[in-house]
Amino acid sequence: MKTIQDFNFKNKKALIRVDFNVPLNNNFEVTDATRIEAAKPSIKKILEDGGSVVLMSHLGRPKGVEAAYSLKHIVEKVTEVLGVQVKFVADCVGEKVTESVNNLQNGEILLLENLRFYEEETAGNEEFSKLLANNGDIYVNDAFGTAHRAHASTTIVAKYFSEHKCFGSLLAKEIESIDKVLNNSEKPVLAILGGAKVSSKITVIENILDKVDHLIIGGGMTFTFIKAQGGSVGNSICEDDKMELALEILEKAAAKNVQIHLPVDVLAADDFSNDANTQVVDVTQIPDGWQGLDAGPASQRIFDEVVNSSKTILWNGPLGVFELETFSKGTIALGNSIDRATQNGAFSLVGGGDSVAAVKQFGFADKVSYVSTGGGAMLETLEGKTLPGINAIRS
Ligand code: AMP
Repeated sequence: MKTIQDFNFKNKKALIRVDFNVPLNNNFEVTDATRIEAAKPSIKKILEDGGSVVLMSHLGRPKGVEAAYSLKHIVEKVTEVLGVQVKFVADCVGEKVTESVNNLQNGEILLLENLRFYEEETAGNEEFSKLLANNGDIYVNDAFGTAHRAHASTTIVAKYFSEHKCFGSLLAKEIESIDKVLNNSEKPVLAILGGAKVSSKITVIENILDKVDHLIIGGGMTFTFIKAQGGSVGNSICEDDKMELALEILEKAAAKNVQIHLPVDVLAADDFSNDANTQVVDVTQIPDGWQGLDAGPASQRIFDEVVNSSKTILWNGPLGVFELETFSKGTIALGNSIDRATQNGAFSLVGGGDSVAAVKQFGFADKVSYVSTGGGAMLETLEGKTLPGINAIRS
């Protein structure tokens, strides 16, 4: 794996694909700079080597050129985070850009305009990629969040750099962390899959069965498994057409010696709201009119034991409707269990979809070993897919 550490950037212009797709408020101010912070190590290394940096990113989903999505809105924040005045050019290809790139001195940073102002970006257009490639001597991909897309700036551009391309520190760390969980893991390995639906996680479950010793299945997915086994799930979320699949998964898991842990009790509610009436019930005996919205206390204890007997832990998806406080306890308890296991030496990785939001909301981000920055990219990796952005650097 060729990373930024394998290059000396002295007198070189690094073209870095970063993920600065940050949230803005109504005044176009950055409300969460996590992604900018995350790119800092790569940028610093290049500047310290004595090179210069050309940053390219997308922001939102503009339809053509839309001022609201201009990256000019983030220049101040990027400057503040990096501690270096960032220059901005209102385009990402063309004469103006070439001039700005040519004028860029060692130690300076230039931010290009939103890549998605051109539809060629998401189309992975070759000509556009070639023009982008003119903006640097070495291509650095540091955007895991878009690594599953074969876009111009994430994938196609790489082929114009032959040997002169590498992973940035952030992307390298993502790859290493995932590898530590899926391939070079210390046993026992545990995956925790929560979230709403079996249908959206099925490929992940199937792929992961070859990698883990234990699998906790929680959240809304639980009820498809419970009903398939003959339990009563009341009004809980359940995909009847996936019940057969659920039974197949249980069979496959047994054949592969993977121990599956489903909740044994749930916090059931008579309404999908914070002030619904609630009761803890056996997961197989949820009364009609009630729905399971969180893992119950007995389940939390069982999950705690499994988590704390594991050496490698992957967490994807909440155990309940964590957005509503009443049903957030199971997810919080799991976070605490993973925190303790991590302190005792386990490697824990959180990522994919909503898990990162849950982990941040409850303050667990600093307590796990690694929080992935890419929702969709992480899910596709867990599904066993090779991401085009990663392949493009390796090939
Ligand atoms: P996902 O994006 O698949 O990880 O799903 C996350 C969503 O699953 C969150 O918005 C949770 O509110 C939801 N969820 C978790 N547990 C349940 C449940 N028991 N019933 C309904 N939704 C749930």
